[in-house]
Amino acid sequence: MKRSHLPTKISAKDCAKQFPGLLHDSGGKLFCTPYNCVLDHRRKSTLENHFAAAKHARMVKEMDVEGEGMEDEDEE
Ligand SMILES: [Zn+2]
Repeated sequence: MKRSHLPTKISAKDCAKQFPGLLHDSGGKLFCTPYNCVLDHRRKSTLENHFAAAKHARMVKEMDVEGEGMEDEDEE
């Protein structure tokens, strides 16, 4: 079975499932988990733009290094 046509009405939950660890849904809204901001789940471009944003990448990076032992910030 193959769904060739996805419905335009994708729920925040469905969208969150596609990006586990990055997005989550709450109260029917889609949130960026690391950045904790609301995203419009109906527009894929919104997500793509947000993921491409430097501020988002930075938050994700900080999440990744979390728990590796906090040393003084080593930029570079
Ligand atoms: Zn984000």
